[in-house]
Amino acid sequence: MLRNLILAALLSTGIAAADGDRESERERMVLGVANLVATSGARAGRDLRPEVLEAMRRVPRHLFVPEDVRAEAYRQHPLPIGHDATISAPTIVALMTELLDPRPGDRVLEVGTGSGYQAAVLSGLVGEVFSIEIVEPLARSARERLAGLGYANVTVRAGDGYAGWPEHSPFDKIIVTAAAPRVPQPLIDQLRPGGRMVIPVGTASDAHDLLLLIEKGADGRIRRRSILPVRFVPLVRGR
Ligand code: SAH
Repeated sequence: MLRNLILAALLSTGIAAADGDRESERERMVLGVANLVATSGARAGRDLRPEVLEAMRRVPRHLFVPEDVRAEAYRQHPLPIGHDATISAPTIVALMTELLDPRPGDRVLEVGTGSGYQAAVLSGLVGEVFSIEIVEPLARSARERLAGLGYANVTVRAGDGYAGWPEHSPFDKIIVTAAAPRVPQPLIDQLRPGGRMVIPVGTASDAHDLLLLIEKGADGRIRRRSILPVRFVPLVRGR
């Protein structure tokens, strides 16, 4: 009994020492995410695809959060990343990624780069990610972080994402990670027929926002589905 305990202690320190990249914590996070989504009753229409979980297994989330909250990087909750922005809880990232139905070759627009974490998760699943962040220092540090970690198919720019990114449109998929009172029309316009958008909608005074899945039919017709209540930082407008 005692010998087993000592062995377990030795093993776990061995694992911790070999895990400077925090791989085992990440694995626990991914298992937690799969569990939460499977039991949440938040019927996204299907389970998480293994590719989505694998993408989250690969991204070192702890390198996307400030040092003072780094210890909590793999917990199942959102974390502050400065400038009133937050990195979403892993489950929300997983769910939004799944709803987007990312496919190799997709050109994706993200509004609200924040830390760059969601963009990094998408990076491994699609062709190209274009991400816009309105807070200049966040845009700059996300750009440097993503480049430093080798996410070569992600392009970040500072600006107001409400207007989308016309130069790179149309997009197969659009993901908005800040809540707007309504879906910005420029984003609907820049979505390719057959494309989809995931966006939280609500105002700061609402108790919660509603995560919407928007599908644009081949004929251009828009279909909206409410997925679940969420809480996001507000989409702010540039001058
Ligand atoms: N996806 C991010 C989390 C984003 S938090 C991540 O993975 O870390 C929401 C972000 O949206 C904040 O950084 C906020 O500054 C940004 N934002 C708010 N309004 C915006 C706008 N109009 N255009 C672009 N970004 C905006």
